[in-house]
Amino acid sequence: MNMKTAIYPGSFDPITNGHIDIIKRSRRLFDEICISVIHNPSKQSLFTMEERINIIQSVFVADSGVTVEGFEGLLVDFAKKKNTFNIIRGLRAVSDFDYEFQMALTNRKLEFRMNTVFFMTDEKYSYLSSSLVKELAVYGADINEFVPEEVACILNKKLDTAGGINK
Ligand code: ADP
Repeated sequence: MNMKTAIYPGSFDPITNGHIDIIKRSRRLFDEICISVIHNPSKQSLFTMEERINIIQSVFVADSGVTVEGFEGLLVDFAKKKNTFNIIRGLRAVSDFDYEFQMALTNRKLEFRMNTVFFMTDEKYSYLSSSLVKELAVYGADINEFVPEEVACILNKKLDTAGGINK
């Protein structure tokens, strides 16, 4: 069978219900989604690469069509390694558009087979980001509407040991 596969790259620091919604909807179009956790040395993350991967794996443990991998460097090189050139990204607001437009065109310039598929956010997650969730958690707000229960637990535990975050 000719499997339809895609890569969903992002920081996922941590994964939120907004990301999960995109993944579930993209699974209707693709047989396999590889969630690719980016290691970006210039972007400070709360969770280590290993932690971010473990969290995502625990969320999608029941879906064998979702795999998780870390990567560093150019997305096109990762795509070539995986021989998968469909890229999934989400759009929340107009403010996401400029960056996503630039990245999608740059990736295609670097490798003509790269095709970015955009999913419009669900309106209930349109304002949701990993940074917002972390910020709320720092101040003790209830984040259970924004992330799965296990992610909320891990995040609160991490903040307890880290003694807060650099926002
Ligand atoms: P990055 O640092 O690459 O933007 P993120 O983890 O913040 O990584 O986001 C990964 C992708 O998921 C991006 O395309 C982003 O626009 C999308 N995304 C993040 N949050 C949401 C949301 N609430 N609804 C829809 N898409 C989202």
